[in-house]
Amino acid sequence: MSEIHVVGGGLAGSEAAFQLAERGHRVVLHEMRGVRGTPAHQTDRLAELVCSNTFKSTELTNAHGLLKAEMRLLGSLVLRGADEARVAAGSALAVDRDLFSAFVHERVTAHPLITVTREEVTAVPASPCLIATGPLTSDALAESVRARLGVQSLAFYDAIAPIIAVESIDQSVAFRAARWDKETMPASGAEAEAGCGAGEGESRASAPHSASSPAPGSGAYLNCPMDKPQFEVFIDALTAADQFTAHEFDSAPYFEGCMPVEEIARRGRESLRFGPMKPIGLRDPRTGKRPWAVVQLRAEDRAGRMWNIVGCQTRLRIPEQQRVFRMIPGLENAEFLRFGSIHRNTYLNAPGALTPHLSLRDDPMVLFAGQLTGVEGYTESTATGLVAAINLSRLLRGDEPIVPPVDTMLGALYRHLRDADPAHFQPMNANFGLLDELADPPRDKHKKRELYAERSLAAMRVWMAEHGLA
Ligand SMILES: Cc1cc2nc3c(=O)[nH]c(=O)nc-3n(C[C@H](O)[C@H](O)[C@H](O)COP(=O)(O)OP(=O)(O)OC[C@H]3O[C@@H](n4cnc5c(N)ncnc54)[C@H](O)[C@@H]3O)c2cc1C
Repeated sequence: MSEIHVVGGGLAGSEAAFQLAERGHRVVLHEMRGVRGTPAHQTDRLAELVCSNTFKSTELTNAHGLLKAEMRLLGSLVLRGADEARVAAGSALAVDRDLFSAFVHERVTAHPLITVTREEVTAVPASPCLIATGPLTSDALAESVRARLGVQSLAFYDAIAPIIAVESIDQSVAFRAARWDKETMPASGAEAEAGCGAGEGESRASAPHSASSPAPGSGAYLNCPMDKPQFEVFIDALTAADQFTAHEFDSAPYFEGCMPVEEIARRGRESLRFGPMKPIGLRDPRTGKRPWAVVQLRAEDRAGRMWNIVGCQTRLRIPEQQRVFRMIPGLENAEFLRFGSIHRNTYLNAPGALTPHLSLRDDPMVLFAGQLTGVEGYTESTATGLVAAINLSRLLRGDEPIVPPVDTMLGALYRHLRDADPAHFQPMNANFGLLDELADPPRDKHKKRELYAERSLAAMRVWMAEHGLA
């Protein structure tokens, strides 16, 4: 029996090691904490939660709740640990972090087919292997992965802007147009390594226009026009809003292209009007005039259901993001599918560099899992560890790799990692915007989500039965 090397004993790596061992494979799990720390972890326990103690909602009408329900069907160890360590937090699955990691640590280290070694892995191991070293992957390994993929860089400051559900954007106010009516251009692979989200015609001259979801003949962007008083009120709110203070290890200077929007605004009241919110080349069809300022939204997915507020990477606290960005005309009722954030992150440009089952393109048995693949969050990272283990086990038996169907939240996440525009690829969390629309969607949002959940769980059960996972 060949040994499988799993690198990284975080959420994804612990889940994957356990799942592989349960499928009869001998696993060596390499975890560097114990001999070398990370800037965020505090202990040498496996599956340590680096920050908050919640896996978010358990409700099926919440995207994170649905993802968890799918993972429970697949038998997630991490979720069992979370259930064991659950503390009262309403419908959220919050945990006692020590009890949680102790549970997972115990199950993994006690497994007869798993050996845990404490060492920093500095190069991509021989296949079969699974790399799940997370957002704080050590430099030496990151460099080895970078070289193996043949890309320019891996380390990003992960500066992400909020994403808004299309149906919550008031399109009687927000108008579709590209600056100067320019047609959209396909993104070139060479630009796929660009870090932060530059907007249309912004200072990062190499930033391509989005190839995603242009409405034919009407421009690829949704433009929210502001008059002068609206702009002034917005700037006041933005600069005064409450923000997260940096973790000590995150206090490195911002890359210029990753400057939080509130920081740009603080540098000068007009700076956004000459930067990401500049109005030139745009006319509001309602007035025929150039607005005072324009907030542009760019489609994140090919179906045009998720829209990124361009240039609005932010450190504002979540309620403040809701309050301030809903002041933008057209976004008064914005539904946030993902909130903005800025933190140090190392992740791969999965759509540009990996296979659909998240392996190297030249070796299907060198897989990646966890936050390193471009998913965001505890649950999402764990879920990719689970699927990676299923696939490595299949490959070792001579079967083809598989991913869950796109009607499931997990499958939709994988589709995003496969199909997203590499030029604008940013980490993604579970959200309903990833799923295809229902054939006959009800108007009621809650009902609609119930139907999504029903469809997802049914699809997951069928898929599991087809592949002997039930
Ligand atoms: C500061 C910070 C705060 C965050 N807060 C949250 C939050 O509140 N909620 C949330 O959902 N998500 C949060 N995230 C994202 C979070 O990191 C992921 O959701 C999750 O921990 C990722 O799981 P993972 O298994 O991919 O990586 P991790 O859990 O980080 O595990 C990776 C493991 O690999 C090990 N490792 C790294 N390099 C090597 C190497 N070369 N050799 C051997 N071992 C190595 C590390 O020590 C670590 O144990 C945060 C991330 C950061 C950086």
